[in-house]
Formats: sequence, structure tokens, C-alpha cells
Amino acid sequence: MSTRVLAVANQKGGVGKTTTCVNLAASLAAMKRRVLLIDLDAQGNATTASGINKNELSATAYEVLTQRQPIDAVVKRSSAGYTVLPANGDLTAAEIELIGEIGREYRLKKALAEYKKQFDFVLIDCPPSLNMLTLNGLAAADGLIIPMQCEFFALEGLAALINTIEQIQETVNPNLKVEGVLRTMFDPRNSLARDVSRQLIQYFGNSVYRAIIPRNVRLAEAPSHGLPVLKYDRQSKGTIAYLALAGEMIRRAKDRSRAATAEVG
Ligand code: ADP
Ligand code: MG
Repeated sequence: MSTRVLAVANQKGGVGKTTTCVNLAASLAAMKRRVLLIDLDAQGNATTASGINKNELSATAYEVLTQRQPIDAVVKRSSAGYTVLPANGDLTAAEIELIGEIGREYRLKKALAEYKKQFDFVLIDCPPSLNMLTLNGLAAADGLIIPMQCEFFALEGLAALINTIEQIQETVNPNLKVEGVLRTMFDPRNSLARDVSRQLIQYFGNSVYRAIIPRNVRLAEAPSHGLPVLKYDRQSKGTIAYLALAGEMIRRAKDRSRAATAEVG
């Protein structure tokens, strides 16, 4: 199976991008997949939630994007069995430094070209805006995972998001595909949530993951312990949901490679 590079993005903040990256990385690792998690958010939440102290790093994604250090010299190992390219506030400087540089959108893609081959999945946690860091993430990705909170404003943001995806396809990455739409913080008792969910399926069809992430307090608590939820509360609904998502992703990847083989043969 070749490497899948997936950017987890949505311009909206607080929809579960970081939570999805960390818990998906841990779940895929628990299923014996080799995973690299790239933190592209200067807040460094994915780094912290992976049990890595963002204030004690000698180098971060900043050094990689500004080509001061090779990626393999900067990555860390999370105790949950995956590799992390960490981030902290230093990343805000990258944004400014890259202005005026030729090929600035492709720095991450370049850094990953050879390095990614040792992983099955590369997950990129994008910040909640379309800045140069997000552009680097989207330029490097084969697919986009869009976490969506099923609330009224989700659909309002949807038009903007689709517009953005089209712009990316027309510019930095013609091959970018929507890998999947993930319903997060889902409350099945809420009729609006069910409505929005239905509309997502109407628009995105099979791209909507069957796995649904419920609202679960364990998912919100785990990061302050520097742990993915499966290491924090193995029985929680959050753990079960992210394991189901990982299983679904692995099945899709297998189907895809089978289809590709059939085409060639
Ligand atoms: P983003 O990266 O999109 O800004 P986060 O993953 O940081 O979003 O999530 C925003 C907040 O919501 C965090 O405090 C997180 O712990 C919490 N959260 C995320 N997903 C869930 C969930 N399924 N259930 C409960 N809380 C959640
Ligand atoms: Mg985040």
C-alpha cells in the first residue's frame, strides 16, 4: 500500500480537526499502521495532545518549512506509537518568512517527498484559516478530511469550503480530492444535527464517513493528560468512534489499491 497524505482542514475553528488528527493517528497506529502526524498549527495543540512538551523543542515544523533542518532531524515519537512533526508559536514566523520566497507553498511537499515513504498514513493538522501553512498542507496532500460539526452554521461554512477546495485544485494542487467528510461532536438527539447530517450526505454522498464521532467528554479531557483518548479511557465512546473511523479508512485504502490493480491488470 502506498502512502496516503491526508490534510485535516476546515476554515472553521473548534470543529474537531486537532482531536481527529491525534485520535486517528493513535487509532491507525493501534491497527499497526505507520503514521506521521504533522502539526501545522502554531497553537501546537496536536503536539501537546500527543504528549510532547511544545515549550521544550529545539526544532519544529518551522525549521522544516524554512529549510533550516531536514524533517527526520525534527520529528518526535509519541508514546501512542506514531511519529510527530511538532509545532509551537515559532510557526507564526514561518508565515512571514515565506512571503516572497519562490515555491513557498511547496515546502512541506518537498520535505515529505522521500521521507513519507516509510509511513502508511501522513495526517496534517491544519490551522483554522487559509494561510501559507494551510496552503503547504493542502499542496502536500492527496486527500482532504473535513471535520464538520452538524449545526446550523456548518452549512453556511460549506459553500466557502467548497470554493476553497476548487481554488486549491486550480492552483497549488490539481490532484487534491475530498477523502472524507467526518461528522464530529454529534448529538443524535438533536434534530438539527440529523438534518445537517442528511444534507451533508446529499452533497458529499459516499464521501461522508459512516463512522460518526459523538460528543464525548473523554475526548475533551484526554489532551490535558497528553494522551489520545484510547490511552486515556479505552472503553469510552470517543475511543470506539475513532477506532471505527480508522477501520473505515483502512478498508477504503484497500479498496482503492484493489481498484487500481484491477485497472492496470
Ligand atoms: P479544531 O482543531 O478544529 O479547532 P479541536 O479538535 O481543538 O478543534 O476541538 C475544539 C474543542 O472541542 C477542544 O476543546 C476539544 O477537546 C473539544 N472536542 C473536540 N471533539 C470533541 C468531541 N467529539 N466531544 C467533546 N469535545 C470535543
Ligand atoms: Mg486545531
